Amino acid sequence: MSHPSRTPGTPPVVRIHDLRCRYDGEAGPVDALRGVDLDVPRGSFTAIMGPSGSGKTTLLHCAAGLQKPTSGTVELGGADLSRLDETALTRLRRRRVGFVFQAFHLLAALTARENVELPLRLDGRRPDPRHTAALLDRVGLGARGGHRPHQLSGGQKQRVAVARALITGPEVVFADEPTGALDIRSARDVLGLLRDLADNGQTIIMVTHDPVAASFSDQVLFLADGMIVDHLRRPSAPDVAARMATLVESAERAADTAGVV
Ligand code: ADP
Ligand code: MG
Repeated sequence: MSHPSRTPGTPPVVRIHDLRCRYDGEAGPVDALRGVDLDVPRGSFTAIMGPSGSGKTTLLHCAAGLQKPTSGTVELGGADLSRLDETALTRLRRRRVGFVFQAFHLLAALTARENVELPLRLDGRRPDPRHTAALLDRVGLGARGGHRPHQLSGGQKQRVAVARALITGPEVVFADEPTGALDIRSARDVLGLLRDLADNGQTIIMVTHDPVAASFSDQVLFLADGMIVDHLRRPSAPDVAARMATLVESAERAADTAGVV
């Protein structure tokens, strides 16, 4: 299979420069991101890992335009998010990015088909039934378009969510712990699907704490204390697990030193 979108020289689909995010926590300010630089090639599958509290969700949300950073820049498909007003940012979120969440976030009253079409309807566009059917086929749910979420397994629900994330033809699909609520087999199905999408040119950025999930990606970035401290290309699950163990250990040591229990 060819990867026209990964031709050398193609500009990265996401460019992040010196991204910083500070929250006003109850016990004072929290620097969740402390200068993150990142280029994501079009058509690549990137995994973001790191100990709990290292800034993974904050990074994902800033990259996707869900959250404004304190400083630094995010460019998505050439658009500098900090220069967009709220209307333009909403349009970008609706049309140019897709989301997959750990808890699926499907609407219980809608069928799988209607859930998949929702992003288009929210954008005031009329879905093409053939397109929806093709997407449901693509995620292996061609026969289940009329089912409601309670009639689907966890893995099937997440595949509906993946189809929903794809319906607008987004430049990037962002996934935060997409397999966190799934059993091992369903998790592998969903990861295989994401891998397959990336092999066909879809850019995917996924937060995970599971080394096996990360091993489906092209590159793993390791966050610690709001900074990218390491990365692995073509990662194997044991290599990812080993790096994570080291990071978690030093995070715990730092917490001990700081007198945190
Ligand atoms: P991760 O996803 O890696 O667990 P997060 O991005 O959720 O990390 O959080 C990074 C840091 O920022 C943590 O210390 C967390 O407690 C803090 N944080 C996250 N969201 C908020 C918020 N809304 N207000 C205050 N602190 C926050
Ligand atoms: Mg998180």
